[in-house]
Amino acid sequence: MKSKVIFLGTAGGRVVTFNLIRRSGGFLVEKEGSYLHVDPGPGAFVYLRQLGINYRLIDLIVLSHLHLDHSADVNSLLEASTNGGKFRNVSLFAPRSAIVGPDRVVYPYLRKRLVKEEFLSEGSEHTYKHWKVKALIRHRHHGVETYGLLINDEIAYVSCAGFEERMLELYPRNVKLMILNTTFYSRRKGIDHLSAQDALILLKELKPKRAVITHFSMEMIQKNPKRVAEELSRKTGVEVIPASDNMILELK
Ligand SMILES: [Zn+2]
Ligand SMILES: [Zn+2]
Repeated sequence: MKSKVIFLGTAGGRVVTFNLIRRSGGFLVEKEGSYLHVDPGPGAFVYLRQLGINYRLIDLIVLSHLHLDHSADVNSLLEASTNGGKFRNVSLFAPRSAIVGPDRVVYPYLRKRLVKEEFLSEGSEHTYKHWKVKALIRHRHHGVETYGLLINDEIAYVSCAGFEERMLELYPRNVKLMILNTTFYSRRKGIDHLSAQDALILLKELKPKRAVITHFSMEMIQKNPKRVAEELSRKTGVEVIPASDNMILELK
């Protein structure tokens, strides 16, 4: 059975996120009735309910990093998916800094509810039920431990990052779907987020079968993500899709 990706939220940056111009909440991958939730930002708990997704079917949560727009609802979802600790079915893969240490975002008492708790590190591989997750690369992202991910060998997730040449070596070529957190249109000095300019380089070199751009700042909203996606498609030959809240994408 083919998997599908559900984009709960597509906001990036303070203005779009906290004025709710777009939703946050990350994305889910569904396979054979099992859900993997990546980066459950603020609102994920509510948006899942609105979409009629049963929390109990969430088997795995993965955090790319601990920033609030990627993790705010992780605790609500751990509680909801285990029905307040009644069931043990969910696992969590995340950077160590999100789970232990002074900046942790996962409530310590909820860790007991997890079947598996594993720390991501560059090159590490993790499996649980239907899911295989590889931490491909540690990104440069404002000093916070952040990873780019490969899910089931078919979805590459380029989470928040400043562009680096080594991305071209560590991300796989010709992957089925590449999801790029393309926060800005133009590169900004001193801000560790990808721009459309960076996405162009990645897509040209890595040639995924399809790509989705998401995690939009106000600049991207003003540029119109649809137009930016068209521009990227034209320049790279890769089908680039602009994410919208609640968009569902079937993997071909
Ligand atoms: Zn971040
Ligand atoms: Zn972010």
